[in-house]
Amino acid sequence: MSNPSKVALVTGGSRGIGAAVSERLARDGFTVIVNYAGNEDAANETVRRIEAAGGRAVAARADVSDAAAVRAMFNKAEEAFGGVDVLINNAGIMKLATMADSDDALIDSQIGINLKGSINTMREAANRLRDGGRIVNFSTSVVGTKFETYGIYAATKSAVETLTAVLAKELRGKSITVNAVAPGPTGTDLFLKGKPAERIEKLSKANPLERLGQPEDIANAVSFLVGPDGGWINGQTLRANGGMV
Ligand code: NAP
Repeated sequence: MSNPSKVALVTGGSRGIGAAVSERLARDGFTVIVNYAGNEDAANETVRRIEAAGGRAVAARADVSDAAAVRAMFNKAEEAFGGVDVLINNAGIMKLATMADSDDALIDSQIGINLKGSINTMREAANRLRDGGRIVNFSTSVVGTKFETYGIYAATKSAVETLTAVLAKELRGKSITVNAVAPGPTGTDLFLKGKPAERIEKLSKANPLERLGQPEDIANAVSFLVGPDGGWINGQTLRANGGMV
């Protein structure tokens, strides 16, 4: 284990990309806090897989859009492990509609979880991450492709990209880097659920490598950014999408 005493908090670590990131960071030697919102079984299953592979992890329920719940989760992490070194701001939802058809619930939920949720965790991290820490936020390559119906979702992620660069500057003096990863289409519930097979096939081939991204592809990029080789990357957004945009 290369980081025996370092602690990583992965929001939305229970399923999809977050689960792959949690497992990868555990393999990299981090103690992982697997955050989730509602699906306790999935979170426990991710913890079980990490432990079965010889890693160390705990599940922690907190809705990231709830500032008090996020604060309480950081409190518990500090009590249990003495501090947090890495925050992976992966929790997110995607609801697609044209602007004309976007109702208040679609707008408010995406702003609440994707944007305010990322702000809630970044604010705690800015005050509490140990020196030398890392923050990785999650954007999307749709910020580049600007597909119809993705407007509200992409807008929340554009804001996260801007906050990434600003927070990197604000943390001057703490040796903490702040970056974002912007996946393209990746094989998780968020991307696959409710899409016709032809649309999945078309989007999977939109990149010149002509395959669908896998959660592990994104976990590899996150591992680089929080590992020793990523230490000179700061304030950047890394598009991990096989060259789609
Ligand atoms: P996913 O499979 O739907 O998983 C979402 C995860 O986020 C789950 O662990 C879920 O927890 C958690 N979550 C949802 N709302 C939450 C909340 N309010 N508080 C805490 N956790 C919450 O999604 P994914 O595809 O892995 O996406 C991960 C990130 O990558 C997101 O930020 C997404 O926008 C971004 N992204 C994904 C793709 C893609 O194609 N998949 C492309 C670009 C960007 P529960 O299990 O408890 O519900």
